[in-house]
Amino acid sequence: MVQQTLEVVKATELKEKPDPATLKFGRQFSDHMFMMDYSAVDGWHQPRVVPYQPLELDPSAMVFHYGQSVFEGLKAYRSADGNILLFRPEENFRRLNESCDRLCIPQVNEEAMLEYLKELVKLDKDWVPSEVGTSLYIRPFIISTEPTLDVSPARAYTLMIILSPVGSFYKGGIDPVGIFVEDEYTRSAPGGTGYAKTAGNYSGAYKAQERASTHGKAQVLWLDGVEKKYIEEVGSMNVFFKINGEIHTPALSGSILDGITRKSVIELLESNGMNVRQRQISMDELIAANEAGSLQEVFGTGTAAVISPVGRLEYKGQDYVINGSEMGETARWLHETLVGIQTGEQEDPFGWTIV
Ligand code: PMP
Repeated sequence: MVQQTLEVVKATELKEKPDPATLKFGRQFSDHMFMMDYSAVDGWHQPRVVPYQPLELDPSAMVFHYGQSVFEGLKAYRSADGNILLFRPEENFRRLNESCDRLCIPQVNEEAMLEYLKELVKLDKDWVPSEVGTSLYIRPFIISTEPTLDVSPARAYTLMIILSPVGSFYKGGIDPVGIFVEDEYTRSAPGGTGYAKTAGNYSGAYKAQERASTHGKAQVLWLDGVEKKYIEEVGSMNVFFKINGEIHTPALSGSILDGITRKSVIELLESNGMNVRQRQISMDELIAANEAGSLQEVFGTGTAAVISPVGRLEYKGQDYVINGSEMGETARWLHETLVGIQTGEQEDPFGWTIV
């Protein structure tokens, strides 16, 4: 019988915790990690929490060659009363399974995963920083480990969860960013893997990100993969527009990631009586709205920054300023409300956080 109950092997030596003021994203990791293996015979088995450690993999392990891997990203927050809160973690495991399905990776038991995650975070609870804006970033991921160069879905996988304390995204206050509208490279096409969180979507985006940086812009605004006309996402965030007092966001088309912050923003706005229109939005329409003075706000949404206002955008060699490059009132309200709920400072009427 293969082991199916959680085994915990504690680290004998604990690492020194980093100074929260100098934390950089994803550079330091906690004392423990979660692991679980998959084989065709036993399915997912041997869930275990072990000391954080390097892996040993055969050079032919399939993940190195064909990128059959998926990942997730979520955060644990320290509340003022010292509790640790997870924000909608069940949504991340649901999305992990959607990504698995797209990549032909066997799905996991979502309820069991949540329990394993809780055990891991409890064990490394001292790694959840308490300074304003800080959190513990949680990275679940699955890699194909079967040692063969066959171009086909693997028959062996490892799932891991690693934890990394992260600093405030907005150390010097929230400053609206500049974005470069990318009309050559695309992130995903209809029928592609855009809705999955899989490694290749991210490495495939570097080239465009490099170009955005040379134009002095922080992020890429992605257009659709067919006509390069309709707006999809901004960097690795979903994107929202306020036009004439109304909120618009690109509809989930299959090439857009179904962001949990996006979903939360829509639910929050709608529960406050605001209508959110999920539809196709073209660059032409956006530029026309900006020229007419009716484009009031542009902001990205994602786990890392929560809400990231956009102050400028460059499209076909021209720079456009949005809302005088100031953060708009809707973005500000959403940021305060979401961070308030995530950190337990505000009431959570939706039941999004779990202790
Ligand atoms: N789009 C992409 C491509 C992303 O990688 C992310 C980050 N997961 C998002 C959008 C935002 O998703 P979430 O709100 O779930 O973090």
